[in-house]
Amino acid sequence: MSNLTFGIIKPDAVRKGVHGSIIQRILDDGFQIRGMKLIHQSRKQAEGFYAVHRERPFFGELTKFMSSAPCIVMVLEKENAVPEWRNLMGATNPAEAEEGTLRKEFASSIGENAVHGSDSVENAAIEISYFFSKLELV
Ligand code: GDP
Repeated sequence: MSNLTFGIIKPDAVRKGVHGSIIQRILDDGFQIRGMKLIHQSRKQAEGFYAVHRERPFFGELTKFMSSAPCIVMVLEKENAVPEWRNLMGATNPAEAEEGTLRKEFASSIGENAVHGSDSVENAAIEISYFFSKLELV
C-alpha cells in the first residue's frame, strides 16, 4: 500500500477549469491513476473527511469550501507515492509554494489551494477507503 496515495483536485480548481491541466501534470510526473471520480461532497462528508481538523479555527470555512462544488478524488500510484505527491502539490500556502508545484501554479489562497494529498501511508489507506471501494480501483 506504500506505493499508493490519495489526492483531491479541490473545488476551486474544478471551478476554474484547470482540472484537466492538473491531471496531465500528474501523469507527466509518472503517477499511475488507479481510481478517479468526480463527486460533490455533502457538508457532512467533508466534515467526516477532515475530522482531524475539527478543533482548528478554519474547520467551518474548510468544510464549507470542500462541499461548495464538485471535486475529483483520486488514487495515485508511484514509488514513494505519499512524499512524491506532496512534492508535486507544494506548500499548503501558495505564497510559500515552490516554482513548478501545482499549488504555486493553480492555488488561490491557503484555504482554496487546488489539491489535497495524504500526509502518511497510514492516512492514505484511511482516505482511500473513505471514498473508494476495492472494486473501484484498477
Ligand atoms: P495540507 O496537508 O497541505 O493540505 O495542509 P493541512 O493539513 O495543514 O490543512 C488542510 C487544509 O486545510 C489545507 O489544505 C487548506 O485547504 C486548509 N487550511 C489550512 N490552513 C488554513 C487556514 O489558515 N485557513 C483556511 N481557510 N484554510 C486552511
